[in-house]
Amino acid sequence: MPEIVFPLDSTKRFTEQEIVGHNRWHPDIPAQVHVKPGDSFRVDCREWFDGAIHNDDSAEDVRDAPLSTVHVLSGPIAVEGAEPGDLLIVDILDVGPIPQEVGPLAGQGWGYTGIFATENGGGFLTEQFPDAYKVIWDFSGQTATSRHVPHVSFTGIVHPGLMGTAPSADLLARWNKREGDLIATDPNRVPPLALPPEPRDAVLGTLTGDEYDRVAGEGARTAPPRENGGNQDIKNLTKGSRVFYPVFVSGAKLSMGDLHFSQGDGEITFCGAIEMGGYMDLHVDVIKGGMDTYGVSENAIFMPGRVDPRYSEWLAFSGTSVTLDGVQHYLDSHLSYQRACLHAIDYLTKFGYSPEQAYMILGAAPIEGRLSGVVDIPNSCSTVYIPTAIFDFDVRPSANGPHQVDPGMGVPKASF
Ligand code: ZN
Repeated sequence: MPEIVFPLDSTKRFTEQEIVGHNRWHPDIPAQVHVKPGDSFRVDCREWFDGAIHNDDSAEDVRDAPLSTVHVLSGPIAVEGAEPGDLLIVDILDVGPIPQEVGPLAGQGWGYTGIFATENGGGFLTEQFPDAYKVIWDFSGQTATSRHVPHVSFTGIVHPGLMGTAPSADLLARWNKREGDLIATDPNRVPPLALPPEPRDAVLGTLTGDEYDRVAGEGARTAPPRENGGNQDIKNLTKGSRVFYPVFVSGAKLSMGDLHFSQGDGEITFCGAIEMGGYMDLHVDVIKGGMDTYGVSENAIFMPGRVDPRYSEWLAFSGTSVTLDGVQHYLDSHLSYQRACLHAIDYLTKFGYSPEQAYMILGAAPIEGRLSGVVDIPNSCSTVYIPTAIFDFDVRPSANGPHQVDPGMGVPKASF
């Protein structure tokens, strides 16, 4: 096992650890861990809410989830010799849940998926699902099952939802400007169009006093993916992946977290993956001047991992860019993916599932989302592929009609 350079004690809160990480992006959050090109090392990662979500049958914790506290990230890790303009090579040698023991934290044999209420986060289908819901998944080796969604089990594809390098001061200023401009177009929207810097609950490593206050006031929220990588939620960024991150500050200042046991493309329920804490074994190297050499200024490039669930048969649903009310939109792939997902949800309810159970399956299982057509005016065509083998019954259409499953206790719900 590689040396643990960023340890986390499962019995302590994120802010009480030997090394305290961070939950905002800012170039001036000090790196407390230093590695060299060519090094391999282990990083522990806390689940993104630091233990606020519990293994029980209530969704009140998701409804009231403290969004200003996320994402709790491990890092920053400085890589010796990395300078702005370089590319940082990050190999994911291994990634997995917290070694199993009886414990309270997600990752110790279990994880969760949430649908967030419109008033607290929202989600991809928040118009249809305005309340909060939670599903607990149990892990057995690579397999996930849930007491809240019976008759489904699938192979996980463990990956970090979030990893990235620190922005430069200039890049951070551009993020805050452009996202602030967007918010200003509809400042009272629920859910908001974007999240401005939020000093409340900012965790900034070792910073204190005036320096803490300044950085907390400027630090970018970690929700969106940006030029530095960040919260990309790419399910195929699993064991064996190699990522090439642009370097914007001296040392690169790499950080990571938000580990997922599994996720469908799009992470559509907002907290749509199976969230958990765990570990990552990483190897780093540097390509000097690589940003210019390879034209990587906009975002990271990556080679996906070699560990995929081996599903060979799929049932796919398509959607076009027409609203449920019949209004035609022009090549809107977001809308067509929504329609494809709603189509799949409607279908699964014919077998006895509640709409929430079906939505949770699409969020958490290794479903594939595709931009099938983006040029055929006025309709884009998006598709969502569901592996048929994740169900313990025949989910395909047939002359016999849909087999009825017992939906069990269903998905815990909490309303405002
Ligand atoms: Zn996540």
